[in-house]
Amino acid sequence: MQSKTATLSGRAITKVYRSGEIDIWALKGVDFDLYPQEVVVLLGASGSGKSTLLNILGGLDVPSDGQVFYNGTDISRASERELTLFRRLHVGFVFQFYNLIPSLTAYENVALVTEIVPNAMPPEEALELVDLLDRKNHFPAQLSGGEQQRVAIARAIAKRPDILLCDEPTGALDMKTGIVVLQAIEHINREIGTTTAVITHNTVVGEMADRIVSISDGKISDVKVNKERRKASTLHW
Ligand code: ADP
Ligand code: MG
Repeated sequence: MQSKTATLSGRAITKVYRSGEIDIWALKGVDFDLYPQEVVVLLGASGSGKSTLLNILGGLDVPSDGQVFYNGTDISRASERELTLFRRLHVGFVFQFYNLIPSLTAYENVALVTEIVPNAMPPEEALELVDLLDRKNHFPAQLSGGEQQRVAIARAIAKRPDILLCDEPTGALDMKTGIVVLQAIEHINREIGTTTAVITHNTVVGEMADRIVSISDGKISDVKVNKERRKASTLHW
């Protein structure tokens, strides 16, 4: 797997937040690769820099220094417009709090994205991938937290992104519901080969990954390759 060109690479990424008089070094020189079709779990304590790294890789934020490559092309100096297109066409994001639009049904929440992207899947197909087709006409308030997160995943992958970036997707869910959400992520990776990164502070989630990248105090502290991925359905915490 590692002989291929990485889908996304970060090189010597630093991020400094200026907060009044003090500088906060959120990332202190991070090299990170995400290879085609793999699942990487990004592990680390709160405040270690996980979200900052994922946001920079996904073009939601820019590094203070260092480079980001998408399929070998440097996007770290891209214009705002180029970054918008990169995000829109190639990256699906999933966050801890689903960010669905309450006044739209599950179907409409997904359609909002598929309408602005070429070659998107029909919303039904995306909802089917997360096993929620039968709930397509339900509003977020009529869905459980886990179901809402699966709609958010359907929305993220309906554009057939190369990359799915998930920031604590199970952070607000109990174990059983969290596992169903992880199964949806696993299923999409297997079915359509979306390169996937999942942030968590739950070490058990790492077992479903091809690789576990640990981040500590703004630096990569460890990379572990799993011999085989454990099925999300068998995880327990
Ligand atoms: P994690 O996702 O691992 O919890 P973050 O990437 O959110 O960590 O944050 C890393 C560090 O950067 C923390 O010390 C956090 O307080 C700081 N930080 C994150 N975003 C900002 C911001 N917009 N302004 C100032 N400091 C920030
Ligand atoms: Mg975070």
